[in-house]
Amino acid sequence: MTTFVWPHGHAAALSLSFDDARPSQLDFGAPVFDRHGYKATFYVSLSPLRLRAEEWRKAAANGHEIGNHTVYHPCTGNFAWSREHALESYTLEQMAAELDAANQQIKEIVGVEAMTFAYPCGQTFVGRGTETRSYIPLVAEKFLAGRGYLAECHNDPWMCDPANLMTIGLDNKDFEEVQGELDRALAQGQWLHMAGHDVNMGKGQVTRVETLDRILNYAREKNFWITTVAEGARYLRDKRKGLD
Ligand SMILES: [Zn+2]
Repeated sequence: MTTFVWPHGHAAALSLSFDDARPSQLDFGAPVFDRHGYKATFYVSLSPLRLRAEEWRKAAANGHEIGNHTVYHPCTGNFAWSREHALESYTLEQMAAELDAANQQIKEIVGVEAMTFAYPCGQTFVGRGTETRSYIPLVAEKFLAGRGYLAECHNDPWMCDPANLMTIGLDNKDFEEVQGELDRALAQGQWLHMAGHDVNMGKGQVTRVETLDRILNYAREKNFWITTVAEGARYLRDKRKGLD
């Protein structure tokens, strides 16, 4: 297979995304990207989106991507907090309707069309046992891309499925812990995805501003194309036209 050519002679690609529309993303996350002149992707939960709608609208107008993350954030019911919206009890029809509903609400609140999706908890199934179904095909139908979570590899630009993008975690990590991932993606000309939650504050899933700063500096220095998930997916689609 021929070498995949990233735009403007870039050696590899990097997309950073943040989930659940947590307020710290507006307060600390987006400003880091603005300072560096890059765009991030935000997979939003709808209640917090509504609470600071004006600021999210501004972030979108500023070029940051707003993506779909469902309405009810369904994950496995093994999480006690997800028991009422357990993927094990979902159907594909229900998921399809929910994806559409989330798109519609994002449009109402922020005024943009969500082009890509992030699987809540990175989980891609509905149902259980012999009735389990993947909802990746639904995401493939409705979106340019579907972003996963906590994978152990990166995306080969010829091979990867845009509806099932491998994505590593960014929360609670020092730069040194992710530098190896950047180097690995660079050496193979891959599309590296990293995803986090809170930025700089909060308990549990917190991406450090210092880590973000250093990632962006390093990625610029190493000639990464730093872009949103939608822009990366669009580029991939055009490059692979006729091959898929
Ligand atoms: Zn989430």
